[in-house]
Amino acid sequence: VVVLGIETSCDDTAAAVVRSNGEILSQVVSSQADLLAKYGGVAPKMAEEAHSQVIDQVVQEALDKAYMTEKDLTAVAVTIGPGLSLCLRVGVQKARRIAGGFNLPIVGIHHMEAHALVARLIEKDLQFPFMALLISGASIFTSLPPLSRAFCYCRVYDHREEVSFIILIMEVNKKASGSGGHNLLILARDLGQYIQLGTTIDDAIGEAYDKTAKWLGLDMRRSGGPAIEKLAMEGNAESVKFSIPMKQHKDCNFSYAGLKTQVRLAIESKKIDAKIPISSASNEDRLSRADIAASFQRIAVLHLEEKCERAIQWALKMEPSIRHLVVSGGVASNQYVRAQLNMVVKKNGLQLVCPPPQLCTDNGVMVAWTGIENFRMGRYDPPPPAQDPEDFVYDLRPRWPLGEVYAEGKSEAR
Ligand code: ATP
Ligand code: FE
Repeated sequence: VVVLGIETSCDDTAAAVVRSNGEILSQVVSSQADLLAKYGGVAPKMAEEAHSQVIDQVVQEALDKAYMTEKDLTAVAVTIGPGLSLCLRVGVQKARRIAGGFNLPIVGIHHMEAHALVARLIEKDLQFPFMALLISGASIFTSLPPLSRAFCYCRVYDHREEVSFIILIMEVNKKASGSGGHNLLILARDLGQYIQLGTTIDDAIGEAYDKTAKWLGLDMRRSGGPAIEKLAMEGNAESVKFSIPMKQHKDCNFSYAGLKTQVRLAIESKKIDAKIPISSASNEDRLSRADIAASFQRIAVLHLEEKCERAIQWALKMEPSIRHLVVSGGVASNQYVRAQLNMVVKKNGLQLVCPPPQLCTDNGVMVAWTGIENFRMGRYDPPPPAQDPEDFVYDLRPRWPLGEVYAEGKSEAR
């Protein structure tokens, strides 16, 4: 079985060809990092245009690098949600064109399931049931002024349905708080059977990394996370006192909005000027920024550690045979995050599985691989008609929870 995977749910256009024995035949990612750095977030309409411009090229390159043509494929897998519908549609249209043209089955993929399952491609011992912590955080639309945000959203929605302007602005403001990313703790019982043990009640950890980086005047070209990770090594993690989020909640949910505010206040009180890039800061100024980066990172990760520990207890009650915790998503490429979580996982008798960084951030390999897992179980759609009718309603699932929410999470909260 050879599957082409296509991913366009957020700001990366990615494609890959993977064989069912786990061999990665090719992988191509075209990132919108420049756009992201310029606007400080993902603007759906701009992201859609960027995807449309490169999608054909990215897919062609993936096929070329695998020394294959469409005729050699067994199926096409494509992310159908969750994500930005305008962006998802670019990938789905492309997948349907190929599947229709070459009579190939099509597998619709859940983006977060793919982030978790890619771990099974790299760790052959990883059997169900296992746990996964998925940590990412692309900010959607954060730096545009409110009216232009609303305007862009009008453009996003106007050809689909009529939505009142007030609702639009509220929706936009909600989005603007950075709900693009995920902070999910799940129990994967079997393929397609997931239990959500915890999620974020506001921001994802990656959003907090990105904002902290921006306020500290760091270089955002490769997103804020790596910049904070690097700067934190120069700082004292005990020097600024931040409180651990949700200490009083006996559940496995996360919250990063409060920590973000604490960081902003600390930065203001130390009179750090984000307009002065860190490269031009005095030694003293640099050190004070590094202290904040290190202190922020310590608490942000401590919050992950505490919730993971509780989630492991919960999950083992349901599935005593669990042996692994997978950590994936962009923030999982952080070495400090990995080291700290490794300690928690070991202490609880489990093993940590972290995909390599290029498989932690958005990629086509995870989509192709999840396509293979589903295809093997007979879960796919028949080839679409060669010529999709103009008004075809694509099966997109922009909001798509992964599995059931664990009941104890509700009853034990507070
Ligand atoms: P989602 O999967 O939830 O739809 P996404 O796929 O857009 O979101 P990812 O690409 O998985 O997000 O992750 C991006 C996030 O990862 C950014 O917030 C970025 O700052 C963060 N990140 C990347 N590298 C690191 C690092 N070394 N340390 C901390 N954070 C990092
Ligand atoms: Fe992702």
